[in-house]
Amino acid sequence: MNERVTGSLLTNLKQYWGYPGFRPLQREAMTLVMSDRDSLVVLPTGGGKSLCYQVPAVSRDGMALVVSPLISLMKDQVDALQAVGIQAACINSMQSAQSKREVAALIRRRELKLLYIAPERLVQPQTIEFLQGVGVSFIAIDEAHCISQWGHDFRPEYRQLRCLKQAFPKAAVHGYTATATEQVRADIAEQLGIANAEILVGSFDRPNLRYRVERRTDPAGQLQRILQRHKGESGIIYCISRKNVDSTSQMLNQLGFKTRPYHAGMSDEDRRRSQDAFIDEDVNIIVATVAFGMGIDKSNVRFVIHAEMPRSLENYQQESGRAGRDGLEAECCLLYAANDADTWEYLMKDTEDPDVRQAGLRAISAMQQYCVSTRCRHRQLVEHFGQSLESENCGACDFCLNEMLPVEEPMILGQKILSCVVRQGERFGAAYTAQVLRGSKAKRIVENGHDKLSTWGLLKDEPEPQLRNWIDQLLSQGFLRQAGEYNCLEVTPRGRQLLKGQAIPVLLRLQVAESAQPLDDQWAGVDRDLFEELRGMRNRLAVMKHVPPYIVFSDATLRDLARRRPSNMNGLTRVHGIGAQKQKEFGADVLHTIRTWCQSHNLAMNVESSGSVTTRSAGVRPAPVRESASGKYFDLFENGLSMEDVAHQLDCSLDTVSKYLSEYLKAHRITEIAPWVAPNLQLLVKNAIGQVGCERLKPVFEQLGGQVDYARIRIVATVWEIQQEEDSRT
Ligand code: ADP
Ligand code: ZN
Repeated sequence: MNERVTGSLLTNLKQYWGYPGFRPLQREAMTLVMSDRDSLVVLPTGGGKSLCYQVPAVSRDGMALVVSPLISLMKDQVDALQAVGIQAACINSMQSAQSKREVAALIRRRELKLLYIAPERLVQPQTIEFLQGVGVSFIAIDEAHCISQWGHDFRPEYRQLRCLKQAFPKAAVHGYTATATEQVRADIAEQLGIANAEILVGSFDRPNLRYRVERRTDPAGQLQRILQRHKGESGIIYCISRKNVDSTSQMLNQLGFKTRPYHAGMSDEDRRRSQDAFIDEDVNIIVATVAFGMGIDKSNVRFVIHAEMPRSLENYQQESGRAGRDGLEAECCLLYAANDADTWEYLMKDTEDPDVRQAGLRAISAMQQYCVSTRCRHRQLVEHFGQSLESENCGACDFCLNEMLPVEEPMILGQKILSCVVRQGERFGAAYTAQVLRGSKAKRIVENGHDKLSTWGLLKDEPEPQLRNWIDQLLSQGFLRQAGEYNCLEVTPRGRQLLKGQAIPVLLRLQVAESAQPLDDQWAGVDRDLFEELRGMRNRLAVMKHVPPYIVFSDATLRDLARRRPSNMNGLTRVHGIGAQKQKEFGADVLHTIRTWCQSHNLAMNVESSGSVTTRSAGVRPAPVRESASGKYFDLFENGLSMEDVAHQLDCSLDTVSKYLSEYLKAHRITEIAPWVAPNLQLLVKNAIGQVGCERLKPVFEQLGGQVDYARIRIVATVWEIQQEEDSRT
């Protein structure tokens, strides 16, 4: 039975949506719907939750009810379903009586597969009575965390949904949310009366998002540089206050970018206009407070910038998560300054409940920690939500991309900074300390006689932001702490160890992020000019159909079109995201655009693309395939496969792979190991080996505070040995 069910789900997925396969956990989630088992599905934004109930709704008899909190969300979903040829409608308070009657008629004639409905509407006795008579196949609760007071978006009207289990005893209830905490999860199941629900929790990692953090030193310049990387693409810039939203939006407009503001201080009408302009791609950039986002399903947001620090990692995950829902690469950049935390604390000043206050302060401090830490961003985020990241190098954060390189002699640098703090009597803050180290002649410094300190001007060649950043790094690693009303720097016991040469910090140098490369694999084979041409076509079709452009085609579909460049209907069916309905409706326009373009630009058509489009959604990282009977490890190393990829392909542990790799390196006297250990990690490990030697790996591991795995330490140690041998030979 299971295979048959999966088969019919797959057929519909392909036929309506034009997708070749499931995303992680979708098959499991859909199977639960098909077999009437209550369920709660937790997947990150962009994980593909909607399809978990939409595909089964089409594959079953009857009509599915979908509870959704916002009218804009409902409308968007219904538009998207209709665009792929599925009968769906919604009932909400904004509808005219006439339109409500039309929907009721459709329901009576049993023509709908999905009915979207607001919770307060659904629980009315006459609605329930009406729906009881029309064959409800199952009930899906979108944004299910709205039912929990512990969630970030509690909606009292969701509380009444408890009655659904009694009202529709035969229909299973399925909740969907991106909210990760255990407490909220349990609360949802309890509140919905589905205590025995099967709970599916996906990975919270979003591999297609590229995270970066920069200290905010020159906001205009920094924003400009990021925006330049995203010419013509859609994105959101978040600020804390309304005032900053307005000033940032104006500033960018003066610099020649086209932006619009969005915050709760604007009239409903103005807000709606900003939002529509963004969704319809009349403007690409929206500058907003946190008020913006919920209810925006736009799948091709290519960047989310936080011009100021968000209030918690939960918020950050949510807000940055609005980028790249289509699974294509997107950038999430965070600019922070130390006083952002003060702003958030100030905004909490009216919070009376001490528990809530404490929780709020803890969240701010975790967020700060993220900003100044020296670890993989993906790893930090998933760990915050109680999960772990499989691969050592995410390949998609400033740290793993080597945009922040370890300094050569972190111990000496750390000692210089700490001894300056000590010599100043531990009575001054970070900004002051940085100035002394830079050799400033500021009045206050001279008055305090600190221009006479031996540490004055000790790091005069380093820019101030870099010094501030190192102080942050030392703070986050517990070598320094801030004390008192004025946040004076103090050296901790761990800091004293560093001064004595008994501990080593990890200090990273900020690189200029202009070198930031796009994740090019997702553009492989795509003719970019044709992509732009197709985007223009998409906008025209969207205006004609009165739907947002991303409902006509996703960016992933446009890229696949500009890659395969099909010349006929048959070729179109192989394109990602083109099902039967879209082929029928837009096929002729698409083929015409492609044909005209390819002929006038002498571009080959009907290019066979390997497999389908590479979206890096929810934990799928690409792994090349190569078969070899003997020496299979060496073969793969020869091809430059990472240790993770080899472990994955040969189904063995990383440790085993590293032992083979070590043999391989020795056999061929190879010392160039960039394919297996990132240069920044090599440096770190070499530093540690310099301290404790490499007869045994454990001391090295411990010296590094567990930050680098044994496999990589083994590889660097191997190279160290090879080099020692070479040296002793010459
Ligand atoms: P969520 O509700 O979890 O944020 P959505 O349901 O909006 O995610 O899906 C995000 C995007 O991914 C949508 O554009 C959707 O069409 C697409 N998508 C979902 N499932 C698949 C799949 N199996 N293959 C390809 N694309 C998918
Ligand atoms: Zn990383």
